[in-house]
Amino acid sequence: MKQCKWYSTCPIKRFNEKGLLDKSWPNRYCLNNGKQCVRYEMEECNIPHPDWMLPDGSLEKRLENE
Ligand code: SF4
Repeated sequence: MKQCKWYSTCPIKRFNEKGLLDKSWPNRYCLNNGKQCVRYEMEECNIPHPDWMLPDGSLEKRLENE
């Protein structure tokens, strides 16, 4: 398993460190080279997306101000 190249700057890292997310998110996506992560694909294509968008593309409004 390899860490996603965006991890150091990704808000998912911050949410994870704050204990706001189930560990399955970083485990499944961020430590798996960003495979199948919607955020990863959007970063690659320079498509704007909100910080509170999860790796599967769903929006988690409760994270909006975190
Ligand atoms: S959420 Fe996606 S883009 Fe962000 S670090 Fe994890 S795998 Fe990479």
